[in-house]
Amino acid sequence: MKKLCGALCALFLLLSGCGGPVSDSTDFFAMDTFMTLTAWGDNQDDAHAVVSEAEQEINRLSNALSRQVEASSLAELNAANGEIVTLDPDTYAALSRAVEYAEQTGGAFDPTTAPLSDLWGIGTDAAAVPDEAAIAQALTHVGYQNIELLDNNQARLLNGAQVDLGGIGKGYATDVVASLREDEPLLAQLGGNIGAYGENPSSKDGLWTVGLADPDDSANYIATLHIQDASIVTSGDYERYFEQNGVRYHHIFDPSTGYPAQTGLRAVTVVDKESTRADAYTTALFVMGLDKGLAFCEEHDVQAVFVTQDHKIYVTGGLQITLADGVDYELAS
Ligand code: ADP
Ligand code: MG
Repeated sequence: MKKLCGALCALFLLLSGCGGPVSDSTDFFAMDTFMTLTAWGDNQDDAHAVVSEAEQEINRLSNALSRQVEASSLAELNAANGEIVTLDPDTYAALSRAVEYAEQTGGAFDPTTAPLSDLWGIGTDAAAVPDEAAIAQALTHVGYQNIELLDNNQARLLNGAQVDLGGIGKGYATDVVASLREDEPLLAQLGGNIGAYGENPSSKDGLWTVGLADPDDSANYIATLHIQDASIVTSGDYERYFEQNGVRYHHIFDPSTGYPAQTGLRAVTVVDKESTRADAYTTALFVMGLDKGLAFCEEHDVQAVFVTQDHKIYVTGGLQITLADGVDYELAS
């Protein structure tokens, strides 16, 4: 197994040589994760201009899409007690996309799981299994049908609903970053979301190689995929979780039960031109599980990789995947 970083990692070497495009990179922490942006250009100033504008945009979106940032448009919506709120245009756009994918996935993706995240406290020191009554109570506020989208960037929440765009935010930000680029190569790594655009200057075929993390050790990868002008997104049970009595409770909730989705999957990866869609789909497919997930991919022409607890890797048609040397995973058909 090879070394890597995080749920997904773009594997590339910067070629040093004369005459090729020049690159500039920035590393920073936003949206609760580490990000790296690398842009290429004819000169350092051009490459630098792209990464610094992209970083600023991500920081702006991080505020617009976060329910934790008190002054954010989303926090305002959540605090409005059912009143109509005029949202920041990006908050409105991301919320609209979230509702679209909630409808399309039959609620497997649901941006109103905030009360469940708060109740379970995943990622906090207070993380614990709540009692059944508390879960049932939280569930009474969960349901994307409680989001009412109105004209002119306005929306309101019914029935005490609370919105959390954590399942789609990094995808939305990746698409915004991609839209800043003209035609020079750009590699955006937003935690488990990668966008790889243009010709990879470091590979002969121009493709970008991305490693799929080993769910048991995300510093290693179990397989690689090649992409171009596309985004690749992973959701897994190994990023944010706690364990109680030998059971792992992670941050992706099944909105129909109020519990972290337990479907025998460790991770789902989606490759799509649009990172927003890929992000919503990875979360939804993780909740659906393997059989329903594969059927959904077939019906909606989604390119996905499912990694199961019993070390099998299922790949939908159209994706080429290469197992890393020496891994105890097998490709299933
Ligand atoms: P990551 O945050 O690791 O990229 P995901 O994209 O799968 O992972 O998003 C998980 C986040 O989305 C959770 O932290 C929570 O904020 C929210 N979430 C949890 N369950 C769901 C769900 N069923 N539908 C939509 N969002 C969810
Ligand atoms: Mg997601």
